[in-house]
Amino acid sequence: MKNPKKNNPPPSNFIRTIIEKNLAQELYKDKKWAGTPGNASHHEAGEIDPAKIRTRFPPEPNGYLHIGHAKSIFLNFGLAQDYKGTCHLRFDDTNPEKENKEYVDSIIDSVKWLGFDWTFKDQTNLFYASDYFEHMYKAAISLIESGFAYVDKQTPDEIRENRGTLTSPGIDSPWRAHPISDHIKWFKEMKEGKHSDGSMVLRAKINMASPNINLRDPAIYRIKRAFHHRTADTWCIYPMYTFAHPIEDALEGITHSICTLEFEDQRPFYDWLLKKLKENKFFSGPLPKQHEFARLNLTFTVLSKRKLIELVKDNHVTGWDDPRMPTLAGARRRGFTPEGFKLFSERIGVSKADSWIDYATLEDSMREVLNVSALRRVAILDPIKLIINNYPDGQEEDCLAPNHPLNEDLGKRTLKLTKELWIEREDFMVSPIEKYFRLYPGNQVRLRYGYIVTCTGFDEDDQGNIMAVYCDYLPDTKSGTPGANSIKVKGNIHWLSIKYSINAVVNQYDRLFKEEHPGNKTDNYLDDLNLNSLKTSQIKLEENCLSVSPSDQFQFERHGYFICDSNQNSIITFNRTTTLRDTWQ
Ligand code: ATP
Ligand code: MG
Repeated sequence: MKNPKKNNPPPSNFIRTIIEKNLAQELYKDKKWAGTPGNASHHEAGEIDPAKIRTRFPPEPNGYLHIGHAKSIFLNFGLAQDYKGTCHLRFDDTNPEKENKEYVDSIIDSVKWLGFDWTFKDQTNLFYASDYFEHMYKAAISLIESGFAYVDKQTPDEIRENRGTLTSPGIDSPWRAHPISDHIKWFKEMKEGKHSDGSMVLRAKINMASPNINLRDPAIYRIKRAFHHRTADTWCIYPMYTFAHPIEDALEGITHSICTLEFEDQRPFYDWLLKKLKENKFFSGPLPKQHEFARLNLTFTVLSKRKLIELVKDNHVTGWDDPRMPTLAGARRRGFTPEGFKLFSERIGVSKADSWIDYATLEDSMREVLNVSALRRVAILDPIKLIINNYPDGQEEDCLAPNHPLNEDLGKRTLKLTKELWIEREDFMVSPIEKYFRLYPGNQVRLRYGYIVTCTGFDEDDQGNIMAVYCDYLPDTKSGTPGANSIKVKGNIHWLSIKYSINAVVNQYDRLFKEEHPGNKTDNYLDDLNLNSLKTSQIKLEENCLSVSPSDQFQFERHGYFICDSNQNSIITFNRTTTLRDTWQ
């Protein structure tokens, strides 16, 4: 089955416009690529880059990817695909304390799950910023040698005080004017571990009076004795993100470095640094350019790794892949699909204007895709008995139900009709409310794919709980027979034979937060946690679900989309992905 929307050309956006312009200008016509990342001399010895453009997705491995990252992944990998280029997966792992291998593995898993890979013409473009520490160190030395970086021995407080404010210029550090040879010596000592953490930093030498505070001699290297998950204790100095990132891009020959808007103020430093390093022959052109777009903000959830870590560590959820979590691992267990994320990404578009996207837009995209792809099955989520008085004991007959109403090729399955059935508790009322067309004494409904029945009565216990409902069936009215339309009814309910149904467990999820903008009122997003976001129930299922496997997805008729979470030791568990319509209030 095809998603009808699949073959439409991707909607244009300002980044596509920029790329198309750059390609028309033949900006990368002579750009060289040596097959692996490296500096100017490395790439100069290479071939003309076979990739028309290079983008990168650069997560920091300090948590699991979330739905916001999906936007960036579809953008970066999507652009590369559409313009005959490649997108690198780069782990931005220059901040050792919060990073680990579990996060690296989960990120690889999620990007692959969304359908992307980083292989291009037999080259595997998966990189780690930590592999560039030596390059970064050399870049720093080259900057010091050319008079554009210096070691500052002011205390962190002094540095902060002397940075100035938005309205007043900063003050030059007393160390700034020392001879270049001193700075080289001190920086080497920093590397050799001769100085304590925080006792000195390396700063770019730009302009302490710049109106852009980011250009007032930003710190580019700090001393930090921290164990790194890949380089162990090799380094006791680590580059700052703002220094590392442009260098990573340039080493990898990135053409378009796409990031979120909060980095806009950093762009002048990005350009300054690469220009200086190009003048020093450390890099050759064309240099990467940074472009910023608005990050995804989604209502009723939080998209920040710091908060997501808190939700997991403080046991507000069962783990990173809890189906209520806005992580990609959670979304996957929830039954959200890569195709649904693709449709969602196209719908929300890419712009420079910050905005909030309604959570319902995400669910709608998932519904739309699942409506096409999911096979139909019957499940009774809150079962009560329906007994057909005039149906012979022991009689059984087949009722045929299409596996998919939009696709006849998928054939039909058989539902066995017997005297005793399960129906949904909400499909019966003792005294009907207005516009209630389902079962109540005296009313007629169709048993979907079967007969029309007339409700004749019910049993209740001492507390007024309905224990069973009774009905008579009209033998000439079976669906698919000439008499099916002889009587018109307004209600059509689903059912399962008690004899031919199986037990299962269903997790029905609600939004994890009660408020559209969690934390807006009290400043603490945890105050808005929805404490009733999970309801687990015992249900009845069609017998042919007996052999379902994890990740099998179905529409349970009238209820919504569900995904099998596990099928072990005769216990089948399903998670509800979404209801059929947006019913959230
Ligand atoms: P967080 O604030 O959740 O930690 P981050 O931006 O620090 O997010 P990174 O791992 O550094 O997370 O992000 C990798 C890439 O994903 C970056 O290029 C970043 O711009 C992008 N990204 C992160 N969050 C979003 C979002 N909400 N919408 C779009 N892109 C995002
Ligand atoms: Mg980050």
